[in-house]
Order: sequence, then structure tokens, then C-alpha cells
Amino acid sequence: MSFDAKKYHSIYYIKHREEILANQKEYYKKNPWMNNYKKAKGRCQCETNKRYHRYGGRGIKFLLSVKDIKFLWFRDKGYLMKLPSIDRIYNNGNYSLSNCRYIEFEVNRELKKTHCKRGHLLKGKNIKIRKDGYRECKLCMKARRLENGKLS
Ligand SMILES: [Zn+2]
Repeated sequence: MSFDAKKYHSIYYIKHREEILANQKEYYKKNPWMNNYKKAKGRCQCETNKRYHRYGGRGIKFLLSVKDIKFLWFRDKGYLMKLPSIDRIYNNGNYSLSNCRYIEFEVNRELKKTHCKRGHLLKGKNIKIRKDGYRECKLCMKARRLENGKLS
């Protein structure tokens, strides 16, 4: 009789599910950067990942080692963030040590927007970067100034 490793592991998994999940939880608690590592790697390398088409599918490579992401975590103080997320500085660049940094998830999401609420292009001279890292649309700022000027 041949040994079916896959079947054995699934039986093992069912039997020890609670314990395995608890260990996993404990592991990610102790190594929180591994969450980002696993997710980003999945987006780049796993074709069944929901977001693959926006990452691996358009040529974004995952080039970070566990050591790299751990380095970034401590360099950028990910542990102080509400929801730490790994950001690629150049959006078309790879997940590499020189192109990555930890930032707040909210800021990260803001940075990925290409247009403001009113539909102005958030690019080049139309962007004002605030101290907290958020970008503001200069056209909208100007419009607000004019509106305020007229009202007062
Ligand atoms: Zn605008």
C-alpha cells in the first residue's frame, strides 16, 4: 500500500484543525509582517487570487524575502500603525526592498486613486501632499477657495 501524503495531511488537518488554527493565529500575532508577505505574494504568484490580474497578471513580481519584509516592518514602524499595509512606491514596480514601504492602509488606498471625488486627475502638479501623507486635489482646493471667497 502506498502512502498518500495528501490524504494523510487532510485527515491530520481535520483531526487537529483547532490546534492548527490556534497555532497559525499565534504565529501571525508574533510575526504580523507575515500576513502582508503572504497576501502580497499571493496577489503576484497565485493565478486563482481574486486580485491576480492587477498584480502578477500585469507583470508585478514578488521579490521580497521574509527578512526584507521584516526589515521594512521595523524600519517603518508597522507596529505603530492601525492597519499596516505594504505599499509599492512606484505603482508599476515590483515588490522589492527598494520599492516597498509600510504605510497605513487608509493612506495606501488614497494613494492608489487616480482621480479625486470630482473627477480631476490626481497627477503631477495637481497634487498637494499633506503632512499625513494624503494627497489633495489642487483644482478642488482652488474651487473651494473661490466658493469661500464669494460667500464671505
Ligand atoms: Zn478635484
